[in-house]
Amino acid sequence: MPEAFAVCSMCRKPIAMATKYWRCSVSTCNSGRVKLSFCSVSCWDAHLPTARHRNASAIEEIASPQHKR
Ligand SMILES: [Zn+2]
Ligand SMILES: [Zn+2]
Repeated sequence: MPEAFAVCSMCRKPIAMATKYWRCSVSTCNSGRVKLSFCSVSCWDAHLPTARHRNASAIEEIASPQHKR
């Protein structure tokens, strides 16, 4: 099995390379030690109450080695 891109920050399901994933639009969720990736929009939805963002959206991306988290 090829190396996974990341695991979903919510359900811990592996996200395979070259498949779609979602990230949070909020910069603190994409910098530093914590780079959140979600396998589905519903997992991103589940992240919102824990993160208390005022304005956030889910950004669809394709998992690639360049963006490995
Ligand atoms: Zn998930
Ligand atoms: Zn977030």
